[in-house]
Amino acid sequence: MQRLRSTIDRIDRKGYGAYKDLSGSFEFERFTLFIDRVQRDPFAPPSLIRVRTKENRFDSALFGSPVRRVAFEDFLTREVDRAVHDVVRGNRGSGGSGRVEIQRPSQKVLARTSMVVEGDYVEARMAVGLPARRRSVDGRAARAVLLEELPEVVGRALMPESVDPDRARLHVETIEDANHLRDLLPSLGLVAFVVNGAVLPRESGASDWPLREGAVPFESPAEFRVEAGLPNRGVVTGMGIPEGVTLVAGGGFHGKSTLLSALAWGVYDHVPEDGRELVVARADAVKVRAEDGRSVAGVDISAMIGDLPGGRSTKSFSSPNASGSTSQAANIAEALEVGTSLLLVDEDTSATNFMIRDERMRELVRREPISPFIDLVRPLHLSLGVSTVVVVGGVGDYLDVADRVILLEDYAASDATRRAREVVGRFPPRTPLEEGVMHRPRSRRLRASSLDLRRGKRETARGRGLHTVELGRERVDLSSVEQLAEAGQTEAAARIVGRFAAGGDRGLEEMIEEALAVISEGGLDALGQFRGHPGEMSLPRAQEVAAAVNRVRGLLVGPGA
Ligand code: ADP
Ligand code: MG
Repeated sequence: MQRLRSTIDRIDRKGYGAYKDLSGSFEFERFTLFIDRVQRDPFAPPSLIRVRTKENRFDSALFGSPVRRVAFEDFLTREVDRAVHDVVRGNRGSGGSGRVEIQRPSQKVLARTSMVVEGDYVEARMAVGLPARRRSVDGRAARAVLLEELPEVVGRALMPESVDPDRARLHVETIEDANHLRDLLPSLGLVAFVVNGAVLPRESGASDWPLREGAVPFESPAEFRVEAGLPNRGVVTGMGIPEGVTLVAGGGFHGKSTLLSALAWGVYDHVPEDGRELVVARADAVKVRAEDGRSVAGVDISAMIGDLPGGRSTKSFSSPNASGSTSQAANIAEALEVGTSLLLVDEDTSATNFMIRDERMRELVRREPISPFIDLVRPLHLSLGVSTVVVVGGVGDYLDVADRVILLEDYAASDATRRAREVVGRFPPRTPLEEGVMHRPRSRRLRASSLDLRRGKRETARGRGLHTVELGRERVDLSSVEQLAEAGQTEAAARIVGRFAAGGDRGLEEMIEEALAVISEGGLDALGQFRGHPGEMSLPRAQEVAAAVNRVRGLLVGPGA
């Protein structure tokens, strides 16, 4: 601490570059400060630091299993964020001077690089804007940030005596319960579960916070009621969605998309008081949509779309500009390629001609390569064991192929399966075009050399916010990838793709498996490029990593091994 103080005194008022003398580690009374990367000027991205406590006196039950440890790391990240907010003054000069930050978590609980809890220490990874007056070192402000505010943040967030043990325990137990519930799904024959009392709607389209006023809590229809025993909360009751084909029907604005979206996010755990803590779906569930304009590289969509004009085969379909239907087919094929047991489809974001084709249009248009999704949902389940939950408001034909129908009226769910059968009986049966067949798409081998990471003299593979991966000069657009929860996942996915580009050709699944194995071995830190602070990353699923690779323009593939 003394050494830090005297170094700051020595460089006070010098050019900003003198801050590089702060690189290294400094011993404080209760923690060690590591200054890993020093920014070059006050307007550059902030400097990267770590604070590591000298001991870990938290109750070891809080981090005694891998799931609990991730939950507790998430908890402490939020504690630091809060303490920073309460303690740090912020703006102390030009650029980012005086700003202190830790990775900002979403409502989801994910493994992240922001916090490491070990048996004998706790380490927070943060960013600090080293203070400047114009372009010279502002020693007084630097002392205030590093010698006063930072130790105060550590004291408030990383020391057991100032952390509320009940909140910490609730956090960890909530996550553990959700995880357990998700793991139970296959043995219960379910693809998803929505606990009674869950609050599904969000505050707004731009906010992931629960809707506070006027939210109608979820209540399971009696027919779908399922009980599940959880390690901490005991037995809970809610709606179980069994394997097979489930329709979510109802009038406009009655909560259909909200339910489906809650299921899509149910692949992740949520913080207490989110409202969706015990809304879970199979961990590999994928929400698929139409995404016209996306780039598609050699994807086998032949099960859904037959030969295209000019006899163009769809066994290896490529397009720099896919249509609504071909993009949705590609999204499904890619989900199947990387592996999924549950597809979630909302008519709001689907291509109509992919979803359905009615009798009149069949008469008029004979040369239609698309087998509509309605004819594929049953084969998907029967041949591939992949279940589907489809939101439909407008297309009654889907009643023919549903195993069950959840009806939403005024946000209340009921079982409309029987009524749906009666309705179906009153109309002539729908004749499927042909006996639907569904096969697994061919797996692809990715050419590493088709990725070009060069950008000027450097090579880059990094995340740019939530929806963009920057690879060299290309910006890969992930805005239609619906289960990306936070920018840290995008960053991690970008680095995984970058590592692959530097290696040799791989099968897609192989490439992702290898990367996830590296992470499960060495943590997300293994994706760091330098020693020390590895950057802000959150764990992505295989599905989202695949989504990033699949959207690279110019990606070349060959048939899998
Ligand atoms: P749909 O897909 O059936 O047209 P949405 O799911 O988009 O309907 O929901 C319509 C509106 O109702 C949204 O603003 C949503 O936030 C709100 N909403 C959804 N579920 C509930 C609920 N359980 N309680 C209160 N409002 C809800
Ligand atoms: Mg909708």
